[in-house]
Amino acid sequence: MVVAEIGRQLTVAAAGPFAVILFGSPGSGKGTQSRYLVDWLGIPQISTGDMLREHMRRGTETGQSITERMRAGSLVPDEMVDSLVRDRIRAEDCRRGFILDGYPRTVPQAGAMLELLSSVGGDEVVIHLAVDYNVIVSRMAGRRVCVKCGTLYNDVTRPSKSAGICDLDGQPLAVREDDREEVVRERLRQYEAQTEPLVEFFRKTSKRLVEVNASVERPEVIFGRIREGLKALPGGEVYPA
Ligand code: ADP
Repeated sequence: MVVAEIGRQLTVAAAGPFAVILFGSPGSGKGTQSRYLVDWLGIPQISTGDMLREHMRRGTETGQSITERMRAGSLVPDEMVDSLVRDRIRAEDCRRGFILDGYPRTVPQAGAMLELLSSVGGDEVVIHLAVDYNVIVSRMAGRRVCVKCGTLYNDVTRPSKSAGICDLDGQPLAVREDDREEVVRERLRQYEAQTEPLVEFFRKTSKRLVEVNASVERPEVIFGRIREGLKALPGGEVYPA
């Protein structure tokens, strides 16, 4: 399989779609790196966290059934996210490829993902953002979100110009329900128990694993490391323009 970027487009010489699996603990900067990858590769981002929050906002049956777990920082059942992703990647915009942000998050989800991909003739590359525990706690403690437009800020790494107010629309900033301290601890505990084992899983099963130290530097520097890592893969399958 050959993947080359032509201009801002990603060309994939594989029968099916190319999945870029991005994983790292809560607060590792996955969301930010996903957006860079979307711009660079020209393929959509699929965030299971966003999809689940959207269900809760719309009050669907799925949304209602997960409210408690989401509030507590626990994972939702594997079959639920497996089927959300399975349906989403059938859409036309995912034909060439997509970026998975926050999925898979358990070993069974990873198995389901790889099976699904191979059934449609696709292939994958895995990017692991490794971040120091203390860095994560301090980052997440400072996270704020605009109540109106959803823009994310961080007291330490990305403060708003005027404290507690969104730069874009002047609306107040709030702490996301699942960024409260006790919930953050629970999300980290879940990450260690359920998602950390994926590192070993992918080290064993994936030909293309890029591990990036994402602890201290600015997001652009970390993105540079991701691109270097992709270029250095066996066969150099992903090329920047
Ligand atoms: P973060 O990565 O910062 O924890 P997300 O927005 O990715 O935030 O996820 C928020 C919540 O959504 C998680 O705490 C969990 O309850 C649920 N969730 C998201 N993705 C998955 C998944 N793949 N499997 C199970 N639960 C998930």
